[in-house]
Amino acid sequence: MPYSNEVYNIAANRLYERRQNALRLADFRREQLFTEFPRLREINSELMSIGASIGKCIIKGSSQPDIRELSERSLSLQQEQDRIFADMGIDSKVLQPEFTCPVCGDTGHIELENRTVVCDCFKKLMADVAAEQLNTDLPLDKCTFETFKLDHYSDKPDQNGRSPLDRMSKIYNYCVDYADNFTVSSKSLFMRGATGLGKTHLSLAIANEVIKKGMSVIYVSAPDILSKLEREHFTYQYSAQEDTFNSLIKSDLLIIDDLGTEFSSQFTVSCLYNLFNSRLLAGKPVIINTNLRLSELVEAYSQRFVSRVLGSCDRLEFIGEDIRTLKQSR
Ligand SMILES: [Zn+2]
Repeated sequence: MPYSNEVYNIAANRLYERRQNALRLADFRREQLFTEFPRLREINSELMSIGASIGKCIIKGSSQPDIRELSERSLSLQQEQDRIFADMGIDSKVLQPEFTCPVCGDTGHIELENRTVVCDCFKKLMADVAAEQLNTDLPLDKCTFETFKLDHYSDKPDQNGRSPLDRMSKIYNYCVDYADNFTVSSKSLFMRGATGLGKTHLSLAIANEVIKKGMSVIYVSAPDILSKLEREHFTYQYSAQEDTFNSLIKSDLLIIDDLGTEFSSQFTVSCLYNLFNSRLLAGKPVIINTNLRLSELVEAYSQRFVSRVLGSCDRLEFIGEDIRTLKQSR
């Protein structure tokens, strides 16, 4: 799936920087080495001039003995260079740039069966850039499992004989376990409950752990992402819309927060259904958070959507008092 010019250009610039950095670092290392062992510098410059001479000979059609003489001199210089490296106990590879992607040398393209194709590293970079553009204000550092305080929840049993603390401990442990065992094909989660009970905090804590495992996460609030998709659609920015949709579908984990607080329209409803369904078909997990009751969800999004969500997600019910209010009153 193609990305917009903007995403392509940002990714291409990053790749260019990567390559330049690797080349600069190799130059720096070479310079250090040549300063320490001046003979290596002499060998290097003679090897370069021999290379140029051989090139000229070939173009001019010079005699084979001339070329052979140059090649033999080149070989003996290389052997001398190898001996120096062996004596120093250094791998001669130190003179070569260390590219982030050894496959394409950080150019982003490779030759495959006489065709130039985009390297996987460049594809990944474009996906990362597109995802970053959605994740601009992810409050990850504040929301971890360590900063989640269970003692904000009451230990007084309700009419069913269970306290909010008891329920939340179970949810908390479930989430820790979910994050620990997360894979790209983990089950989806549906977190439901009133505002201020920790749904966002726990989903971001999961996000933190998933990112630590080297996987990609996109966290969006439903009103923000749906209005973005709607704006891109109705202002004909189809390539931007495709970037957004691609990123939402491709990330290893997608978290949709605050479902039901957006302005609902036929467009947003079908958009959400498509998004959720595309991820499910690709076997990729989603975490959906909502304050709405199930009947309200059905009213806002249709029975079909709600059944699809409930049928494919583990459901976590957050019950208790708003901990943000409790924290303030203490
Ligand atoms: Zn590459």
